[in-house]
Amino acid sequence: MANAPGESTPRETGTDSMYDGAGYLASLRDAREIYIYGERVPDVTTHPAFRNACRSIARLYDALHDPKHRDTLTGIDRSGVRTHKFFKPCYSAQELWEARDAIVDWSRLSYGYMGRTPDYKAALMGTLASEPEYYAPFDESARKWYARYSSQCLFLNHCLINPPTDRSRPVHEVGDVYVHVVKERDDGIIVSGAKMLGTGSAMTHATFVAQNSAVTLDKEKAKDFALVFIAPMDTAGMKLICRASYEQNAQSPFDHPLSSRFDENDAVLIFENSFIAWENVFVYRDTERANGFYRHSRFVNRFMLQATSRLAVKLDLMVGLFAKGIETNGTDAFRGVQAALGEIIGWRNLLWGMTAAMCLDPENAPGGAVVPKQEYAYTMRIFGTQCWPAVRQIFEKFLSGSLLVFPSSYKDFLNPDLRPVLEKYYRGASVSAVERIKLFKLIWDAIGTEFGARHELYEMNYTGNHEQIRLDVLTGARKSGILDQCIALTDQCMSEYGLEGWTGSTWVWDK
Ligand SMILES: Cc1cc2nc3c(=O)[nH]c(=O)nc-3n(C[C@H](O)[C@H](O)[C@H](O)COP(=O)(O)OP(=O)(O)OC[C@H]3O[C@@H](n4cnc5c(N)ncnc54)[C@H](O)[C@@H]3O)c2cc1C
Repeated sequence: MANAPGESTPRETGTDSMYDGAGYLASLRDAREIYIYGERVPDVTTHPAFRNACRSIARLYDALHDPKHRDTLTGIDRSGVRTHKFFKPCYSAQELWEARDAIVDWSRLSYGYMGRTPDYKAALMGTLASEPEYYAPFDESARKWYARYSSQCLFLNHCLINPPTDRSRPVHEVGDVYVHVVKERDDGIIVSGAKMLGTGSAMTHATFVAQNSAVTLDKEKAKDFALVFIAPMDTAGMKLICRASYEQNAQSPFDHPLSSRFDENDAVLIFENSFIAWENVFVYRDTERANGFYRHSRFVNRFMLQATSRLAVKLDLMVGLFAKGIETNGTDAFRGVQAALGEIIGWRNLLWGMTAAMCLDPENAPGGAVVPKQEYAYTMRIFGTQCWPAVRQIFEKFLSGSLLVFPSSYKDFLNPDLRPVLEKYYRGASVSAVERIKLFKLIWDAIGTEFGARHELYEMNYTGNHEQIRLDVLTGARKSGILDQCIALTDQCMSEYGLEGWTGSTWVWDK
């Protein structure tokens, strides 16, 4: 990272060195190697593919210092440093609850449409303070990274998944593609290989690289792949190959009000003989810890609090969009349409309820911390994936063809010949043509444009493949004893009767 935090705006106290928006944007101007449309991006903060998304993140950093948000968003950690409330470990249900409110406050600034705001990776980084010893002999890396991360509120992306080169082969047989150590040096390691999908990575400070928890690493043969490390975005030999930019393709704020400012580009990260200093390494050639840190750190428990709170905010927007959409179409008084609105509100209520359960009924974690209970967090991985397609389908069923009843561009309204025609034929039941089209373009960007469609893919996949998220719930139930309790309850029910009738005297049966 080329720029120190707060360079643009020095803070008054030694304990507050969180970035502000200007400092954050300045910190992105370094030697990072980002490619899009065949060219290297000279400055991510001014490039039309990324500049508004960067500004959306800058807005979050400004909020940390804004008196309107500061007390909700920030607090003091146990070392006396001011940080975002989810960037530090939580030691009580009350602290988790306040961390949720901080997540929500940030999320509202992108209406839940940015999944990988800096608080996402705080789910793991915050845990480095409560039990750095787990990463021994790299525990000092964990301590130092927590201190730096929390005090500056750094923005990390993470890249856990190996590209889909060949899923039928074990990881160590795809060494030409998958990230592995090439060479060990006195001062660190050299790594090569690719990872997917670094959401938002172009506008972060560093990438966190590890193996996906679903991957099984052969104890002996896969040691070179058993790594957890952090690479600053200006790491030499690291390239980001970006997907097409929905921000750059957006025509105007009126036509694409979400994609034009909240597009977190998903990139493939490629390391070619990149140097990673020991202080950025957490796990090295240790197959057990390369996977084990997920469960041990309770990373999933915490990231699902961020993810569910963010999705709850997004659902608030969806409730509002649907309510306005049916009113505009004049269908809001029909019983079936009202039931559909009720269903979306039901999803919304379920998500908010789950955030409350995750905070107020937590479980103990290493180092005296508390985290959302595994049952709740892991279960939300399943229902989060079901929620979004269900809600999206309601929009498509009940707003139907009206979802495409809008002209190609805001420019059509600027054409004096066309304007009166549009005013007449595109008006809604209760609003003008401009208001109607403004609303429906927002709805379409939320669910139907390339940006909107990518959101469905995101909600359905980002916590793991659809089988893995269910298998993890099963594994959890086996370990916690929940499965045994359920089987015992079933056995009890079956023990109360047989071929001879009831086994006890409670009930009667006339043979
Ligand atoms: C929009 C978006 C953003 C993302 N952002 C990030 C990010 O920032 N960081 C990150 O690390 N990841 C990210 N991801 C990746 C995401 O975590 C993965 O897509 C998800 O974990 C599923 O993994 P996969 O895509 O490799 O699918 P797979 O794991 O390959 O699963 C696809 C299907 O193939 C089958 N399958 C695969 N392997 C096997 C096997 N060995 N045996 C039997 N069946 C198998 C399963 O049936 C599964 O349903 C993102 C994904 C999306 C869509």
